[in-house]
Amino acid sequence: RDQLFKMPKIELHAHIGGSIRESTIIELINKKNKDPEAIKQILDSCRIDPKQSKEVGRRNLNECFKMFEVIHDLTSTDVTVMTRITKETIEDYADDNVIYLELRTTPRAIGQNGSKYDYVTHVIKGIEDYYQSHPDSPIIVRLLLTIDRQKSLQEAKENIELAHTYPSKYIVGMDFSGNPFKGPFSNFQHLIKEAREKHKLPFSIHMGEVLNDDEVLLIISTKPERVGHAVCWQSESTRDEFIRSQIPLEVCLSSNHCTTTSREEGDHPFAEYAKTTNRSGMHMCLNCDDKGIFQTTTTDEYLMAADDFSLSVEEFCEMQADMANYIFDKESIEGVRSQIIKYRDSLSS
Ligand code: 5GP
Ligand code: ZN
Repeated sequence: RDQLFKMPKIELHAHIGGSIRESTIIELINKKNKDPEAIKQILDSCRIDPKQSKEVGRRNLNECFKMFEVIHDLTSTDVTVMTRITKETIEDYADDNVIYLELRTTPRAIGQNGSKYDYVTHVIKGIEDYYQSHPDSPIIVRLLLTIDRQKSLQEAKENIELAHTYPSKYIVGMDFSGNPFKGPFSNFQHLIKEAREKHKLPFSIHMGEVLNDDEVLLIISTKPERVGHAVCWQSESTRDEFIRSQIPLEVCLSSNHCTTTSREEGDHPFAEYAKTTNRSGMHMCLNCDDKGIFQTTTTDEYLMAADDFSLSVEEFCEMQADMANYIFDKESIEGVRSQIIKYRDSLSS
């Protein structure tokens, strides 16, 4: 555990809304509602413990999206709360020796006169506040803006516009996520293509969270800069097509154990992917997805993979040093890679 904890890590798949600390949720609920039974009920609806058994602990993906609604409701009146949640999320990742963190979030208009621009401003203030209060922190934080597939094309256009016009070095790309049972990728495909070509915005696309090979094959054919998840297939040929595509993958083990249908620990396509890493050049790293909701840390994700798939710390370092080539802030690649490789070399000396 100690070696994985100390390993300099990259975290590329972290939704701010799902990273909220439990203590912060409790405070926000308290502000709204002081009835202890109501607090317990809301809290229970916001928590999944991946270590618990399937029967008592897990929620399916639709239930998870209900939890996001609860969290969005708790953060819907005062936009300054996004500054706090962002700062706390960075503190938690920095404490876990994450050296490069790409956060992602869906711009929302909060409060009466709020705008999406305000929302992004308050999230970025959270990053700046973090650096101000931790001037010696080595963590590099960057931000992706999310297109929520559940929302309209107009909303997607606005988010793309924000990502390429908002004046900040922190915004480095975009995410496509939201409830995969809603809003097909094909509806957004042309907008995403335009954003990538015209505005040079790299995209990470949530893919293969539910059984839908047609959509997976469509996403693969558009060759996004990265994808997240890739766990569900109707046919093995679709999985093989993905492996052949060599599109860099953000793996989220806890999240998948909690939300995907009928997968047990150790039964995850990561086993297959890890075997092919050297052979066919798959690029991967492990991520929390929603560290608050799934009660996990990046170190926990590596521990789980070490246990379930018998991989060594050196192998994880190599996996991460390779994946560092696909972070969206290209200027940070060399620095991040060299820190990881230095750590790997220190293990054998
Ligand atoms: P936010 O964008 O509010 O910062 O973070 C929460 C949002 O991220 C959710 O409402 C949802 O749209 C998206 N999200 C978080 N986790 C997942 C996930 O596991 N799968 C998908 N498809 N979307 C997610
Ligand atoms: Zn996600």
